Amino acid sequence: MKIDIHSHFFPLISEELANSVDAERAAWIRLDDKDPNKGMIMLNGREFRPVYRALWDPEFRLKELDEQGIDTQIVCSTPVLFGYSWEAQKAYDWAQKMNDEAVAFCQKYPNRFKALSQVPLQDVKLAAQEASRAKALGCVGVQIGNHVGDKDLNHPDLIDFLIHCAEEDIPVFIHPWDMMGGPNRMKEWMLPWLVAMPAETQLSMLSLILSGALEKIPEKAKICFAHGGGSFPYLLGRVDNAWKHRDIVRKDCPRPPSEYAKRLHTDAAVFNQDALTMLTKVMGVDNVMMGSDYPFPLGEQPIGSLIADSVSLSADDKAKLLYQNAEKFFNLK
Ligand SMILES: [Zn+2]
Repeated sequence: MKIDIHSHFFPLISEELANSVDAERAAWIRLDDKDPNKGMIMLNGREFRPVYRALWDPEFRLKELDEQGIDTQIVCSTPVLFGYSWEAQKAYDWAQKMNDEAVAFCQKYPNRFKALSQVPLQDVKLAAQEASRAKALGCVGVQIGNHVGDKDLNHPDLIDFLIHCAEEDIPVFIHPWDMMGGPNRMKEWMLPWLVAMPAETQLSMLSLILSGALEKIPEKAKICFAHGGGSFPYLLGRVDNAWKHRDIVRKDCPRPPSEYAKRLHTDAAVFNQDALTMLTKVMGVDNVMMGSDYPFPLGEQPIGSLIADSVSLSADDKAKLLYQNAEKFFNLK
């Protein structure tokens, strides 16, 4: 049994539809003239990322999952579709449309595909409303970006949203996006994905921990970070050391930062056996779930191979990472 908790979809949004929503900032897919299985995500009038049919076609995707022995895949939208910089009502209408698309994507194969919703996170009331509506439609959780402009996860609005999700038993998957560093220092070699994304995730996890937000959010909250928690697991010792020696690090955080790691989950998309071993030690073997980032170019291929090939994890632990933890986290049973 294998459940992949981190994969993306992107409906076939036309240029016309994108322009009608926001001519400058709405993403769309330009299909290849010669090969209908290929496309390009377009953003701000520029080519953003080459993609292929699995992103928008559930039948095509299912064949690939069958070949790789994946029983269930959790799909969520592509972060460029969040619309967090738009006026809130527009982002709310858009989130509803995207969530209806997500449910439709899964509906023909309800045991194979499950959806996470997206919400207009710039308005916590509308976000909570849409997360609950999407749950009633069948979404098994919500995906949010790791920040909204300058608001990080310790902002009272975002804490309120996480409390709402905890109270309603809506699992939250937090994906890095809108990466730090800007266009000048990270122009080439996919550096925003390789450097800034892991740092964004670490920033989010520390924002929750060091601000004391996890003291306000109920213990039952289900919060999962993408990409193995980014830089967080590797640098947690540095944070504990800072907490021990500097009162400005301790002032809002009553316990050593590493004590909070067990309150959080991550996926296992780390692409290295030593990193996976360390990740399960830092977060706990009950808190790590297989997640591939399929079907993007930086996703794991074949899905789940890192966990399957591990020599340090026991068979029981592998079963936890491959599906049992996901069943619990997303209430799949
Ligand atoms: Zn992703």
